[in-house]
Amino acid sequence: MQTLRECIAEAEVAKRAIGHFNFSNLETLRAIVQSARAVGVPVIVGLSEGERSFVGLAQAVALVRSFRDEYGHPIFLNADHSYSFEKVKEAVDVGFDAVIVDGAGLPFAENAAMAKECVAYARASGRDVVVEGELGFIGKASQILKKIPDGVKISPEYLTAPEDAARFAQETGVDLFAPAVGNIHGMLEGGADPALDIARIRAIREAAGVPLVLHGASGNSAEDIRAAIAAGVAVVHINTELRAAYRKGLVRGLEENQDELAPYKYLKEPMHSVVKVVEEKLKIFNT
Ligand SMILES: [Zn+2]
Repeated sequence: MQTLRECIAEAEVAKRAIGHFNFSNLETLRAIVQSARAVGVPVIVGLSEGERSFVGLAQAVALVRSFRDEYGHPIFLNADHSYSFEKVKEAVDVGFDAVIVDGAGLPFAENAAMAKECVAYARASGRDVVVEGELGFIGKASQILKKIPDGVKISPEYLTAPEDAARFAQETGVDLFAPAVGNIHGMLEGGADPALDIARIRAIREAAGVPLVLHGASGNSAEDIRAAIAAGVAVVHINTELRAAYRKGLVRGLEENQDELAPYKYLKEPMHSVVKVVEEKLKIFNT
């Protein structure tokens, strides 16, 4: 089976992107796997620090491995947004396929030093762990937002500068780079998120020399996402839209099955809702 590194390289050449979807329970994971198999593409499943503590690290590794082995399908596990070396180390030690070291809220030098330490640790692990670094703050919460998150600025002078991306990638040796290019974590209530800066994405990809990851793509238009992929994005993160679909589906499942006590019956609704979103996104990332 192909490694994650190979899948990313292949996606980039083909101007496609690999979908990254978060989960915090078995039915969401099952729905993501089912969707990826239906569309016939590799997929990354991710766990934030909060999601990790809820699911359990060893449990997440075992679950993902069990799906990969049973179906022979490329499904990879990522430690999404790890804010310290210790959290990255923990994920590498337990068997995650990829980690994100997120020092985007730190000064450049501290961010780069932490990312460099994580890359060295991953390389020494004896496994091929893909390491992603971030530069540029885009907020933290995967929620429906009333306004752009505090501290996030989306005018051009605040987006990640190509020369900073180049320096960061060079100093740290990261495999993937996540910039701020007009994207925000979470999605704005009732309307589309701000437009992505496609020219900036292209310039950053060229300067950084590694594939880019688009975070917070919930709420971005299909056109914007396609253009971002064509400009150098090889992995696209979706979380908020999945959470919203799951919750709506769950409420519907409970309402439509008032007397039902078996979770595996009323949880079919949220699973269907998640499958719908994931399949729709995977088709956008792969056309
Ligand atoms: Zn993210």
